[in-house]
Amino acid sequence: MSDIILQTENLTKEFRGFLAVQDVNINVQRGTIHGLIGPNGAGKTTCFNLLTKFLIPTRGSITYDGRDITRMKPAEVARLGLVRSFQISAVFANLTVLENVRMALQRQRGASFDFWRSEKVLRQYDDRAHELLADVGLTEYADLRAGQLPYGRKRALEIATTLAMDPAMMLLDEPTAGMTHEDVDRIVTLVKRVSAGRTVLLVEHNLKVVEGLCDRITVLARGQILAEGDYAAVSRNPEVQAAYLGT
Ligand code: ADP
Repeated sequence: MSDIILQTENLTKEFRGFLAVQDVNINVQRGTIHGLIGPNGAGKTTCFNLLTKFLIPTRGSITYDGRDITRMKPAEVARLGLVRSFQISAVFANLTVLENVRMALQRQRGASFDFWRSEKVLRQYDDRAHELLADVGLTEYADLRAGQLPYGRKRALEIATTLAMDPAMMLLDEPTAGMTHEDVDRIVTLVKRVSAGRTVLLVEHNLKVVEGLCDRITVLARGQILAEGDYAAVSRNPEVQAAYLGT
C-alpha cells in the first residue's frame, strides 16, 4: 500500500480563460491531516470541488488509493471511501439530530424504505447513530430538531453524517467558518479525534486553525502552490506572510 493516498498531477481548472487552479500537484500522505490553505481567491474552493468531483478539471489528474478518479462521479468516489463533509444545507432541519445520523447510515448501507422500517434494523442503526453522536459530542442534542441546533453544533452534525459513510479519507471544507473562538476550539479537537485511523484533507482560510492540527500544509495563492510543509515552516515563509497580508 502506497504512503500517498491522494495525489493530483498538474490539476488545472479554467473558467472562461481564467485559471482558478493551475498545475497543482498535491500529495496527501495516508493517515495524516493535510491542510489546504490560502488567502481569499487562492483557488481553495475550486480545488476542493475538483477533489470531491463536483467540478471536472480542465486538465490534470487525480489519483485516490492507486486509482485514477479524475472522471469519476462524487457517488463513485464516496463508495471508494473518499467522502466530503455534507453541507449544512444537506442536514434535514425538521428531523432530529439522531434521525439525521440514522438517515446517513441508511444511505450508506443503501437500504430501501421497507428495509428501514424493520424494527431490528432500526435498532441496529440507532446503536451506531448513538455511537457517532457520542464521538462528536452531540449526545445531549440527540432528540432536538437539527434546525434548532446552535451553528457550531451543526458543523459537528455534518461531521457525524460524514463519519456515517465510514470514510477512509474525509474532505472538510472550512469546518470552522463563521464560528466563535469556543466553537473553533471544539471543532479542532473534534477533527483531531475523528481523524484517528483516517486521512483528512481540510480546506481552511484561517492559518490559526491549521496550527497544531495539520501534519502538512499546502498553501495556495492565485491558483498555484506557494509553499508546502508543516505549520512552522509555512507560517514563517515570507511569501506566505505577504500573500496573507495582501488580502
Ligand atoms: P478561494 O476558495 O481560495 O477563496 P475560489 O476557488 O473560490 O478561491 O476562487 C478562485 C478564483 O476563481 C477566484 O478569482 C474566483 O473568482 C474564480 N472562480 C471561482 N469559481 C468560478 C466560476 N464558477 N466562474 C468563474 N470564476 C470562478
